[in-house]
Amino acid sequence: MSADFLQRCCQIAGADYVLTAAADCAPYLTDWRGRFTGRALAVLRPADPAQVAQLVRACADARIALVPQGGRTGLVLGSVPDASGAAVVLSLSRMRRIRALDTVNRTITVDAGCVLHDIQQAAADQGCLFPLSLAAEGSCTIGGNLSTNAGGTAVLRYGNARELCLGLEVVTPHGEVWSGLRGLRKDNTGYDLRDLFIGAEGTLGVITGAVLKLFPQPKGAITALVALASPRDALALLNLMQDHCGASLTGFELMSDFCLRLVATHFPHLPTPFVKRHPQYVLLEVSSSESERHAVNLIEQALEQAVERDLADDAVLATSNAQSRALWHLREHIPLAQAAAGKNIKHDISLPVSSIADFIDSTDATLQQQFPACQVVCFGHLGDGNLHYNVAPPDGQPHDQFLANQDAINRIVHDGVDACNGSISAEHGIGALKRDDLVRYKSKVELDMMRAIKAALDPLGIMNPGKVL
Ligand code: FAD
Ligand code: ZN
Repeated sequence: MSADFLQRCCQIAGADYVLTAAADCAPYLTDWRGRFTGRALAVLRPADPAQVAQLVRACADARIALVPQGGRTGLVLGSVPDASGAAVVLSLSRMRRIRALDTVNRTITVDAGCVLHDIQQAAADQGCLFPLSLAAEGSCTIGGNLSTNAGGTAVLRYGNARELCLGLEVVTPHGEVWSGLRGLRKDNTGYDLRDLFIGAEGTLGVITGAVLKLFPQPKGAITALVALASPRDALALLNLMQDHCGASLTGFELMSDFCLRLVATHFPHLPTPFVKRHPQYVLLEVSSSESERHAVNLIEQALEQAVERDLADDAVLATSNAQSRALWHLREHIPLAQAAAGKNIKHDISLPVSSIADFIDSTDATLQQQFPACQVVCFGHLGDGNLHYNVAPPDGQPHDQFLANQDAINRIVHDGVDACNGSISAEHGIGALKRDDLVRYKSKVELDMMRAIKAALDPLGIMNPGKVL
């Protein structure tokens, strides 16, 4: 049975692109953080949407599950198969064509396997900006970005992957191609199928192509690091910056002193650029469609007001691209420093922006009460209400021992999020890791609608089973 299936796959994609030897499959089976290695009947590497459709049809006929896979940088075990060895991995790694770039419509049409950085580069080559940007951009694919509705550092100004996508091409679980590659900014013709596939983590179909929005490149951008007393002051500063800079405020990232000390410890070439220590820091970026000078003026005026209102204790302004990169490096190295420090319990949550300070105060207090001296590594995209709220063991306690508290700590953090009407996943999605949490925090009505959609589109249950639902 599986021999017939594999032979059919070879006829469709070519034997070179149907991997079955353990060594050939290995690179596709382990998740990014190396926490889990699954097994697969085969790894399929189609060349184009027509081959994807034929392969999915073969899977449907043989009732074989498939796991769509892009750059495998997802953080919730969504793109690796389970341990059964019964599913195939469908990797889009050969589908990397930039299909078209329309500078008048300001759109780019791409294969879903395109690496994010290549799309940014193709846009830049034509004087345009594709603003989706995240630390995994050298490896992640646009198909994966859309399937996880990825965010990153420019959400404040440009939105998530969802907001950047105008049209999709999708292979359905029946092996049909839905060509929805319309570059329209307005289209009110019934249910929005595009939005159904975005953020579906490969459970409803395989995205094979996308039309994405392009923007003008800013003429100038300036970055500053502001030292301040508390998350509450950071929220007041956010408001002040938004009032003063409007859409020119393109980045607003909160980092606690503990985060930057962690970076300085593990990356000594990245010291915190203040003589004195402060409880919190905000990395902010202002971009201008006029000039570099305009961006500098905007940020200087806003910071003057912040100092007058006692919201900022100190600030450094980057005066060159290199200095600006160095400030962003501080932010980008927090996850790396955490990884170097050892295992911790991660949460990628979102809250109404106005609830963030209360959430941090009360959750920090509950954790200290129940797990004295535990270390909270809290940083994130404050402007989007999105925090990385990670919990590490007290100094000296073995990490594995502390990780035994994972369920209890998840419950404290996620109950706090729920009480604020927030979300337990703002970025990474549900995958195989957070299914139980999804059931705990979504209402029955919401879950029933999600299950009904899944059953209607994928009645055989072959599309990335065991993920999300
Ligand atoms: P994969 O990991 O291959 O897949 C992710 C999910 O999408 C899986 O469920 C998979 O089945 C599905 N999928 C993949 N391709 C397709 C397709 N063509 N059709 C249907 N389903 C598909 N996320 C953020 O939101 N913001 C960040 O700032 C951010 N930073 C990150 C930094 C690092 C260093 C890393 C490792 C990850 C980060 N992430 C971030 C996580 C983020 O989800 C991924 O980086 C990225 O969006 C996934 O793309 P990928 O191609 O690697 O997808
Ligand atoms: Zn993030």
